[in-house]
Amino acid sequence: MLVGPDGELPLPWLAEPLVETLARQRAHALLVKGAPGSGVLEFALTLAQAWLCESVQPSTVRRPCGHCEACRLVQSHMHPDLLVLLPEEARRELGWPLTIDKPESGEGERKKASRQIRIDDVRCAIDWITKTNSRGRAKVVVLHPAELLNLQSANALLKTLEEPPAGARLVLTAADPARLMPTLRSRCQQIVLADPPAAQALAWLQAQGVQGAEVLLAATGGQPLRALEMSRMGVDAAVWTSLPRAVGRGQASGFQGWPLPRSIDALQRLCHDLLCTAAGAAPRYFPAASLPRVTDIGPLLQWQRSLSRVARHEEHPWSEGLLLEALVHEARAAMSPPPDDRGPARPAFATLAS
Ligand SMILES: [Zn+2]
Repeated sequence: MLVGPDGELPLPWLAEPLVETLARQRAHALLVKGAPGSGVLEFALTLAQAWLCESVQPSTVRRPCGHCEACRLVQSHMHPDLLVLLPEEARRELGWPLTIDKPESGEGERKKASRQIRIDDVRCAIDWITKTNSRGRAKVVVLHPAELLNLQSANALLKTLEEPPAGARLVLTAADPARLMPTLRSRCQQIVLADPPAAQALAWLQAQGVQGAEVLLAATGGQPLRALEMSRMGVDAAVWTSLPRAVGRGQASGFQGWPLPRSIDALQRLCHDLLCTAAGAAPRYFPAASLPRVTDIGPLLQWQRSLSRVARHEEHPWSEGLLLEALVHEARAAMSPPPDDRGPARPAFATLAS
């Protein structure tokens, strides 16, 4: 998603931050803090397109035109002065070649695509950015997300961030810059891309034909691209609101067809909301009525810890199906009342009020 021939921004809420960033930007290396589900990659790419657009003066603060030759090259992922560095898996999915002139080696096809940004790719980008640009504007590296740089790759990048070659620009994104090396953060000008206002995000989702947009937007904590992705996965408002009780019964079938990280993420949100309601606070991701009442916080905290442990590991030794079953089993235990609580329901406030 880039600025197309009609000149429209890929996401309407990027307009203001784009103009502001173009006006305020001083450093040659930027670090944009923002969520992928709110369009942080689209924002970084639009910035790159603005720097490379040839219909405006280089110093002008303006969004890219969308129809000059440079814009068209960016749209077709063929601009010789733009390098987009993503984890291999995302790079293949979104169709950003690593370099314009070097074909992909066949080796990658046989191996499972990496979810990390590989050191070889970073070295290739560092080497690429020192060469003269082809079209006279700038050479731009977009790196998303910087959390997926390992220590070695981050170290390799430090010198380039500190002293970028003339005409070079780098944009790094991170949902959580605190997870990056301090030396990496300190070499970049930091920009914050906030989540869009709810009304704007809702209107956009509805324009994309998403049903139950309000529930899905809340489910993602206000990130419209994530909500759209859920809707395309077949997760509508009814599916989402049925999850808590299904999980409470130990049923993992609601997650059928979901990528494992998404299932783990949904369980983390459920656990978060159950902890909120147990403490008397409002839930954030699920409608209150969809949540079973859990009063015992101890097992919930234990379940939360085990979910974080699983979420931290990129590769799991178990099969995804088995792991999910184990997590749902644990959820069921955390959500069930202890045995001595299982007798006839005790009078609740609702009963007393009626
Ligand atoms: Zn242009």
